[in-house]
Amino acid sequence: MRPWNFSAGPAVLPFEVLQQVSAELTDWHGSGMSVMEMSHRGPQFKQIITEAEQDLRQLLAVPDDFAVLFTQGGAQAQNALVPLNLLGRSADKTADYIVSGRWSQKSFEEAQRIGPVRLAASSNQAREIDGKEYAPYTWFPEPSGWDINEQAAYVHACSNETVGGVEFADWPELDIPLIMDASSDILSQPIDFDRVSAVYAGAQKNIGPAGLTLIIVRKDILGHALPQCPSALNYALLEQQGSMVNTPPTFAIYVAGLVFKWLQQQGGVAEIERRNKEKARILYEAIDKSDFYSNTVEPSVRSRMNIPFQLHDAQLDGLFLEKAAEAGLLQLKGHKSVGGMRASIYNAMPLKGVQALVQFMQDFEKEHG
Ligand SMILES: *Cc1c(COP(=O)(O)O)cnc(C)c1O
Repeated sequence: MRPWNFSAGPAVLPFEVLQQVSAELTDWHGSGMSVMEMSHRGPQFKQIITEAEQDLRQLLAVPDDFAVLFTQGGAQAQNALVPLNLLGRSADKTADYIVSGRWSQKSFEEAQRIGPVRLAASSNQAREIDGKEYAPYTWFPEPSGWDINEQAAYVHACSNETVGGVEFADWPELDIPLIMDASSDILSQPIDFDRVSAVYAGAQKNIGPAGLTLIIVRKDILGHALPQCPSALNYALLEQQGSMVNTPPTFAIYVAGLVFKWLQQQGGVAEIERRNKEKARILYEAIDKSDFYSNTVEPSVRSRMNIPFQLHDAQLDGLFLEKAAEAGLLQLKGHKSVGGMRASIYNAMPLKGVQALVQFMQDFEKEHG
């Protein structure tokens, strides 16, 4: 059996998808070519990208007035490309940022290089909630307290802070476009497209291989790119040219397309959401009922995708990781800024893998607690 892989990203892919990729690697559907060797403008790849888009639209119920763009550069390139493409919507070329952790902080910093963007809310401070003290970036600034500039081109936020383990699911209805970095929770639950004008994600957490960046954007906010926006990464041009301003990441799009079909076979996003909730529930329950492990995120915004946890004695961290790897539980080391452990349990992590982790944690506690 393969080990269980808890990497935060690039992350585990469905095993069935890897097997299919392997079976078709040198000859895709009798074409005599690997997908890697095909013209991106030929009929075979046209079929691959068209089906990928159709399946994604079906899975997330993407409305027709939204474009689906398959592009490159990763989520961090979007930190510059979102302002380059969208700031021109506002006369003052400004935008508002919600900072709730490491990733949205990076988005805010990069955007400052493009235009005069503002901080509308931040959780980078300790805060008391229900009589309990929470550390910076372990809670989420609730939308009722956002200081929004109604003249801004957009508000940017991150729906799941992969490092801190903070997830923001209750998106508000705003009068200006909400732009969401959903790199680490896209396709883990349905999206309400009445509340968001653009969602983007690097593929390597919940979609497919690194190298592909997915953008789902409402078409009516396009067409105002700043003059310095690179043409190959201009959303309006990508929309007009079917994501083919230049060569798109063809192999990554193909694998993502297989992941979309796998999701459909699992019963779609609603069923995946149900499983994700169950996986997160059993892991948080195991952490909360023990004095040996802890998670310090405010309970109402705990991530269902990335679950950081600490051992009561950090000196045991090395041993925990070593024994976990021996037990077939890989890549559990926490992000260096948080320390401890982090279990990333994306769509492709089955319930069985989480159960194996919980069992290992209990056994380790018995031996070392
Ligand atoms: C991983 C991640 C990023 C960075 O992605 P790259 O593709 O490496 O640029 C940005 N935002 C979030 C929320 C992430 O999880």
